[in-house]
Amino acid sequence: MTERVAGPEIERLIQLLARLPGLGPRSARRAALHLIRKREELLAPLAGALQAAHDKIVTCSVCGNIDVSDPCAICADPRRDGETIVVVETVGDLWALERAGVLNARYHVLGGALSPLDGIGPDDLNIAQLVARVAEGGVKEVILAVNATVDGQTTAHYVAELLSPYDVKCSRLAHGVPVGGELDYLDEGTLAAALRSRTNL
Ligand SMILES: [Zn+2]
Repeated sequence: MTERVAGPEIERLIQLLARLPGLGPRSARRAALHLIRKREELLAPLAGALQAAHDKIVTCSVCGNIDVSDPCAICADPRRDGETIVVVETVGDLWALERAGVLNARYHVLGGALSPLDGIGPDDLNIAQLVARVAEGGVKEVILAVNATVDGQTTAHYVAELLSPYDVKCSRLAHGVPVGGELDYLDEGTLAAALRSRTNL
């Protein structure tokens, strides 16, 4: 048990900060002190931003993305290619793909991956909604941009199988050498996948 160093409001702030991913008790204390020192420039706007996020954030009923409107800005954007749906595990993955800026497609957030060991089955994920979107028609390709993990790949195969009755192309991301990667540093699994997914020059 650590000794209390400050009043209950400050202790509570530290305890809550310590629950953020990547922050332990030590960095939470440092973050809390920093916020307190920058009370007007940082603490007050952060408190406001947290409250506004809490009040406004909704889950998109079409794709499962989070935004401040339903449907989300991506689903509501008429310039987005409605013929391609990119399936991701989490909103974080959607954000990563948007940062890459390569696609102008729409998304579908599953909310995780199938994981028999963790007891996560199809009904725990946003899969039925994806099938319904495809069944509505107008979708030509579903890109399964799931993680290159056993669970991710199991999920990709499961979803592709479910979509096989529909006239839609299912693809997945290539596995292989990362941009800037040196072969000597890659694990055998990645190298083998890269060789299997080789492309013509
Ligand atoms: Zn959406």
